[in-house]
Amino acid sequence: METKLIHINANCTEPTPEEEAALRQAGEIIRNGGLVAFPTETVYGLGGDALNPASSRKIYAAKGRPSDNPLIVHICRFRDIHRIVRRLPEEAVRIAEAFWPGPLTMILPKAEAVPRETTGGLDTVAVRLPSHPVARRLIAYSGGYIAAPSANRSGKPSPTCARYVSEDMDGRIEMVIDGGEVGIGLESTIIDLTEENPRILRPGYVTQEMLDRVLGKVDMDVTILDPDSGQAPRAPGMKYRHYAPQGSLVVVEGEPGEVAAYINRRVEEDRRRGEKTGIIGTTEVLEQYRADVVKCIGSRGAQEDIARNLFSILRQLDDEGVTSIYSESFPEEGLGQAIMNRLLKAAGHRIVRLPAGEGGSCRD
Ligand code: AMP
Ligand code: MG
Repeated sequence: METKLIHINANCTEPTPEEEAALRQAGEIIRNGGLVAFPTETVYGLGGDALNPASSRKIYAAKGRPSDNPLIVHICRFRDIHRIVRRLPEEAVRIAEAFWPGPLTMILPKAEAVPRETTGGLDTVAVRLPSHPVARRLIAYSGGYIAAPSANRSGKPSPTCARYVSEDMDGRIEMVIDGGEVGIGLESTIIDLTEENPRILRPGYVTQEMLDRVLGKVDMDVTILDPDSGQAPRAPGMKYRHYAPQGSLVVVEGEPGEVAAYINRRVEEDRRRGEKTGIIGTTEVLEQYRADVVKCIGSRGAQEDIARNLFSILRQLDDEGVTSIYSESFPEEGLGQAIMNRLLKAAGHRIVRLPAGEGGSCRD
């Protein structure tokens, strides 16, 4: 299949007539059961008609994704939620008022209209109302309900620009909409509202503190806090090793100067073994690093930059054939929870914690 690439200026809320025509065409593709990748404020999505079981099956096939890993249904107006959820708890309305449109997904009881192919066989459905103007127009032209996981091949980092989407999806889907680089760079926060207490299943840009402020105390899924808990994650997708670079990745936590010294030592050993080495570091210590490839993820305090750069850096390290990667660790406050969740998943939870002073203990 030939994949058509179109460009839409993501910043213009008023598209040109040509862009409008292209978006209508993209909507037509989705209505007819085809797939279109499109920009959202979080990462690029791979969209199909959420109410068409054949479209959802195509999404799984295009991604190479296990079909028990449910898809998020994207809507463009709050009132459209009533068709796809059986019950709308009062918390959902409050969360929507506070964070929609935006990078937050709610798990709710599923209505009949949503096929089980879309929800990975579950009786619940994940719903999000994105803020990206291109995404919202596309959803409207597609009939109102787009099922969209991230537009990467399964096991690759989520794509933050159209070039990465094309690398993974060319020949597999009908169209890619290039709307430039995304703003956030990490997938949406997922909150489960189907149980007694609201619970975060995946941390994201909307942080636990922000949700606490709207709902009172919100729980964090135990499998996020402790990956060794032995419990199955409640978001089925969280059990898969997503976002993994091809090279092996180890995260190193400690005082920045000691982290740099420790990483340089490990890099030196790996180089002697013939590995191509890479480091993900912050601006403040970047000059201290010695490796084949050193990537700057941003300044230590600039969490939003770190979030936006992470997936793209993982892809670049793959592209450059790096086989052994070390990354600094980041404080797990605010957006840091989401950053560390993705980074540790990419690392298969290999983290070295340097004690204050010298040396290093590890789960490596
Ligand atoms: P992605 O589409 O790649 O951002 O991944 C979607 C995430 O949402 C996966 O981790 C899914 O497991 C999770 N998810 C989607 N629907 C549900 C649901 N009904 N219950 C729990 N988690 C869900
Ligand atoms: Mg994904």
